[in-house]
Amino acid sequence: MNLEKAGGRLCGGKRASLPAARPFPVIQKVMASMAHLQEEKLRLQEELLGLQEKLAARENDELSRSLQLQGQVETLKAKLLEQAQEISRLRTELGSTDAEKHRDLLAAENERLRQEMKACEGELRELRRRQQQAPCRDCAHLQENAGLQERLSQLQREAEETRAKLAELDLEVQQKTNRLAEVELRLKDSLAERAEEEERLSRRLRDSQETIASLKSQPQQVKYIIKTVEVESAKAKQALCESQSRNQYLQEQVGMQRQVLKEMEQQLQNSQKTAAQLRAQIMMYEAELERAHGQMLEEMQAMEEEKNRAIEEAFSRAQVEMKAVHENLAGVRTNLLTLQPALRTLTHDYNSLKRQVRDFPLLLQETLRSARAEIGQAIEEVHSTNRELLRKYRRELQLRKKCHNELVRLKGNIRVFGRVRPITKEDGEGPEAANAVTFDTDDDAVLHLLHKGKQVSFELDKVFPPQASQEEVFQEVQALVTSCIDGYNVCIFAYGQTGAGKTYTMEGTAANPGINQRALQLLFSEVRGKAADWDYAISVSAAEIYNEALRDLLGKEPQEKLEIKLCPDGSGQLYVPGLTEFRVQSVEDINKVFEFGHVNRATECTNLNEHSSRSHALLIVTVRGLDRSTGLRTTGKLNLVDLAGSERVGRSGAEGSRLREAQHINKSLSALGDVIYALRSRQGHVPFRNSKLTYLLQDSLSGDSKTLMMVQVSPAEKNTSETLCSLKFAERVRSVELGPVSRKAELGSWPSQEQLEGDSPGTTATPGRGHASASPGQLSGRAASIRRKLQTSGKLRPVPV
Ligand code: ADP
Ligand code: MG
Repeated sequence: MNLEKAGGRLCGGKRASLPAARPFPVIQKVMASMAHLQEEKLRLQEELLGLQEKLAARENDELSRSLQLQGQVETLKAKLLEQAQEISRLRTELGSTDAEKHRDLLAAENERLRQEMKACEGELRELRRRQQQAPCRDCAHLQENAGLQERLSQLQREAEETRAKLAELDLEVQQKTNRLAEVELRLKDSLAERAEEEERLSRRLRDSQETIASLKSQPQQVKYIIKTVEVESAKAKQALCESQSRNQYLQEQVGMQRQVLKEMEQQLQNSQKTAAQLRAQIMMYEAELERAHGQMLEEMQAMEEEKNRAIEEAFSRAQVEMKAVHENLAGVRTNLLTLQPALRTLTHDYNSLKRQVRDFPLLLQETLRSARAEIGQAIEEVHSTNRELLRKYRRELQLRKKCHNELVRLKGNIRVFGRVRPITKEDGEGPEAANAVTFDTDDDAVLHLLHKGKQVSFELDKVFPPQASQEEVFQEVQALVTSCIDGYNVCIFAYGQTGAGKTYTMEGTAANPGINQRALQLLFSEVRGKAADWDYAISVSAAEIYNEALRDLLGKEPQEKLEIKLCPDGSGQLYVPGLTEFRVQSVEDINKVFEFGHVNRATECTNLNEHSSRSHALLIVTVRGLDRSTGLRTTGKLNLVDLAGSERVGRSGAEGSRLREAQHINKSLSALGDVIYALRSRQGHVPFRNSKLTYLLQDSLSGDSKTLMMVQVSPAEKNTSETLCSLKFAERVRSVELGPVSRKAELGSWPSQEQLEGDSPGTTATPGRGHASASPGQLSGRAASIRRKLQTSGKLRPVPV
């Protein structure tokens, strides 16, 4: 059914979707229908398998049934045997005529059974013949049938044997019957003899009695006779008695025999009944066997029919599908006919295309020639535009630099910030720890210090109150930091007494980092932002100046004193042979460098806190850039300096090494002040060589370099004296460039630490140690030469400073 439906659908589908002029779909459909036929074939095979399974199941049923029947036959045989035994027993026990009759009946029964068996065999043969003639000779169930038939023949053989045994038994019965007849004859004879004897005896008795009576009438003779008779009569009587007792015995025997006979008859009747029942059972089984045979035949017939029907159906479906395929083929043929004109057009097109292809190389050459010319022209145009743009860009760069320099000049390249740390636990309690610093709410560049009952005001470029965060501080500093990417040198100093917050501002804490780390992070992000046009390399060095000795904090031998030398290439650059420089690429690298520096510093001194407060710590970051488009190289240096404590130790009667330390610190801080002063006042001679610190930072302090002085102060009452000194220093640094008049007034002097202390608050510095003044022309010439050196040194130098 399904197949038919599917076939119908397939044919219909094919016809409906048959395209008018496209051969490939038709072929696809034909292939689809073939696939469908294949599926159908598979399905039929499955059905056939199902039928075979069914047949096998039925055969199994039949087998079990025949086994059942075989069992029944076995039981019947057993019963038959029993009967035969019973008969033989009866025959031995009884030899009566009833038993013979019964035997005859049994024999007749046997005969009938034999007939029936023959009939069964005939039927079986018939069945076998039909099975052999059956069309499905190859079916597996035929083998089963053959097995069954074999078993049946075996059973028949057994039945034959049983029959033979029965015949033997019959023969035996016959013999026994004969013997019984003889016994009966003998019995009859003995009975007749006995009757005769009785007759004779009774006759003799009668004769004797008559003789006695006649003799009684003849007294003497008679008496004698009587006596004789009486004697004879006693003998006769004895004989009579004997014969009577014998008679009695025989009668008893007869009675017993009769009794036995009766019992035998009873038993025979029972046997007959059993035989009748067995017959009925045999009949029933036979009927069942017959029915089973009939059923099997019917089923086989039905299966045969079913198989034929399925084959016919498949055949008819295949025919229908073949028809459809033929129709499709016809459609394909018509399509082919209709396609021929299209093919002709295609051939025509192909020929024209061939012509075009033949002409194509020429055409291509022509086009390429003209395209090349056009492209060359365009490239030339682009080149000239690029050249023009590059020229403009370089001009713009120079202009920008000029503007920047001008801006720096106008703003002043030394900026001074003040930062007031909060009151800490270390400040203690009571009036000593009282706050002595206040701020101007309207002006973030002004702070007021209450010193010895007097309020002193200071104006710097910017003042950070205690609550200012590290981030806020860095925001004010970051412009300076980024300018070193453009090739400027930058110095950021933290100045102030010990405990005023220099290290906090420069290094900060792990959770709240200071300028050092933030600056490097900013440099990384800026460099990343410019990565499209520029290649940058950032490297760091860390050094310490203690008692005017320079040490490498990242080196393998930090205790080794390093020297600052002029580059042997004659460029006038300074460099420190042996100063380690690490290339850093990430924040992790920086952290490693810092950690390494700290470890080196800590292992070289017994008390790090004390040591660090008496030495200058420098972090030197070098940023080297290459503009890929112009080939321009820049080198900017960022010097982050945590200065030694500015407190006046010498005054408090220090001696020995402590005094030496104090003198060195004092000297170097004064030298720094002198250099800044000389630079700001544009003096011809800048005393860089007066201290290791200024000498090392010479390049980064001169020219258009930028400097930030972060003056750290403590707000505690007990520190007001030092705070005052620091703020005076800050104000003086800042005031250096305050207008030509004040600059003039400042020219040639910078106060020492001691002088700072002696100054009255808020006043300008008094001239101290003199410096040779130089003409502005000389100054600018020197600055320009240093700058030139910086700008034109395209190659990376061996660790320049
Ligand atoms: P210096 O380096 O000048 O000797 P430190 O930086 O060691 O001083 O600061 C001394 C103490 O004051 C440190 O415990 C530091 O954490 C704390 N401190 C300094 N400045 C600040 C600030 N702005 N905020 C909070 N604590 C600060
Ligand atoms: Mg410190």
